[in-house]
Amino acid sequence: MSFRLKTILGIALIELTVMAILIGINQFALGGSASTQLYERAEATARVFANAVSDAVIATDLATLDATVATAMETEDITYLRVRSPSGFVLSEAGDADALAMPFVRDPDFETATNDHHIDIDTQIVVQGTSYGTIEMAISTLKVENEIAHALRLNLLVAVLGMSLVAIFGYGLGTVLTRQLHLLQKGARAISDGDLDHHIDVRGRDELAETAVCFNDMAQTLSRGQKILKDQRNRLLEKKARVSDIVTCMTEISENSGTPEVPDTDRDDEIGDMARATVVFRDAMQKVEQARLEQQRLISAFDQVAEQVVIFGLDGKALFLNGAFREFNQPILQNLTCGFTHEEFLREGCDQGQFGVIEDKEAWLEAYAEAARDGAQEIHHAPDRILLTVETDVDGIGKVVSAKDVTDLRQSERQLVQASKMATLGEMATGIAHELNQPLGVIRMAASNCVKRIDRDKADFGQLKAKFERIGEQTERAARIIDQMRVFGRKAEGSNDPIDLTASLTNVAQLARTQLHTLDITLKIDLPDEQAFAMGEKILFEQVLLNLISNARDAIEEAGIEQGIISLKADYNQKDGHVITLSDNGSGIPEHVLDKLFEPFFTTKEPGKGTGLGLSISFGTIQDMGGCISATNTETGAQFQIFLPDAEVETALAS
Ligand code: ADP
Repeated sequence: MSFRLKTILGIALIELTVMAILIGINQFALGGSASTQLYERAEATARVFANAVSDAVIATDLATLDATVATAMETEDITYLRVRSPSGFVLSEAGDADALAMPFVRDPDFETATNDHHIDIDTQIVVQGTSYGTIEMAISTLKVENEIAHALRLNLLVAVLGMSLVAIFGYGLGTVLTRQLHLLQKGARAISDGDLDHHIDVRGRDELAETAVCFNDMAQTLSRGQKILKDQRNRLLEKKARVSDIVTCMTEISENSGTPEVPDTDRDDEIGDMARATVVFRDAMQKVEQARLEQQRLISAFDQVAEQVVIFGLDGKALFLNGAFREFNQPILQNLTCGFTHEEFLREGCDQGQFGVIEDKEAWLEAYAEAARDGAQEIHHAPDRILLTVETDVDGIGKVVSAKDVTDLRQSERQLVQASKMATLGEMATGIAHELNQPLGVIRMAASNCVKRIDRDKADFGQLKAKFERIGEQTERAARIIDQMRVFGRKAEGSNDPIDLTASLTNVAQLARTQLHTLDITLKIDLPDEQAFAMGEKILFEQVLLNLISNARDAIEEAGIEQGIISLKADYNQKDGHVITLSDNGSGIPEHVLDKLFEPFFTTKEPGKGTGLGLSISFGTIQDMGGCISATNTETGAQFQIFLPDAEVETALAS
């Protein structure tokens, strides 16, 4: 239903209601007053007529009565008139025959009377308190009814006219109102269709015009908002595309598929921030990748080194085993689970007999732990390998244990010592030959003396016995010299026993003295009276001393010193342990070579004479004994000092 129709119907309904109320009130008021007046007039007329006929009734003057009735009937609206005696006898009557024929029934009000269109009314003829009869009469209501009907028709006509006018005005008003509304509707539809630039033609200054203005403002605001939204959407789309590019870069970086150039790093917005963050991310990833490759290379290098390496973490569990370790210790590792500890490894090795025959496993483990605290130690690995193990604590990682197979090295070292000893023996050969020559000469002389005496038959038993005893003594002396050489020539066995330092020093001095004597070099010995012991292998220790004496001899010879002196001195139980000092009056050691003396193959001697191994082997031997050796120059020549820890003989011998 259109707004216009609604307006018309609404107004018409209001008008209809108002009219109905007005007509109702009008009719009620009109009908009420007319009917009341008529009813009162009927009653008054009846009473007046009763007075008028009272005398005639009392006198029973019927002629006068009829005349009075006839006169009264001349009144226009009286329908009938009847006079009854007190007994109900009709004394006189006139009027409408039909109405008179009907039995009399008094109408209590106007409405009852309208049924037969007249008011039936009666009244007593009373004179001085006595009733002389009854007046029955009827007054017509038709006139009043017609007037009321006429008034109703007039009211209805006015109502119809009013409604028509209202309808016409309503239509006009509706048309005016709906035209503006139509414009608004058109505008709203245009806006809803997306035409935000649509402008509603505003007319007038009423509420609809104001609404249209609001509509136009709203459309403008929406249009501006839409433009902003469009701009923002375009910007967002552009950013989305840039972000997508950066995400592609990030994906490439995180997948390590190259080092892409990151776009938009110079932008001054979130994309720029993101791009710059991506560059940082890319560079970090590059570094991580480099570190990873580096780590891989390190691990693979570690894995390939010949030395056995195992790393135990801070929790003591194995983190990394290199190839050499895995291969060498396969039997032990077979019985261990991942993440084993160093102690578990050692215990399993002991149980399998991999570290030789161990009678007291706990004591062995304790000794191992103690030795590990002191630094490198050698483990004899079954069947015949020697491993030099080193344990290193690394901050933040744990413990690195490396083991080097030094079996061949030790073998070579022994061979070198042996070769060096043989060389020393060779050097000493002249002196030894001279030394042997003496007893041999005495023996030869004594023997030929005996033979001569026997040949001349002058042999005296007592003299012969003395000669033979002399021969025996000299043979023993020669045997002692040969014994010394044999002992010296023995191969080292790698033992570790207490060495009686005084005995060894005396031994070496005796061995060297003969040779030095032939060269006019004096060997001075200054030894304390008490005994002192150091742990090590006696043969190797004596080799060190002989080596130092040989070097001193060479230095004296080289310097062409006529009165060569070599001093061998021992001081036991000093602050640094037992100190053995060997000094000479040779040329001394050139300052610039002092640092290199103990390096293997360093020699200043002419080719064929020096090997450059003597001091380096000596250095190793003394170090193995837990001591150290140093070289300095004195005013007259060179001085070598050996420092050795005390062997604590009782403990050592007891064990
Ligand atoms: P080699 O004796 O075969 O040369 P060494 O290792 O025993 O090898 O000695 C290395 C070098 O030390 C010698 O060549 C020499 O130059 C120097 N040297 C050793 N002892 C002395 C010494 N007492 N006086 C001077 N120089 C010495």
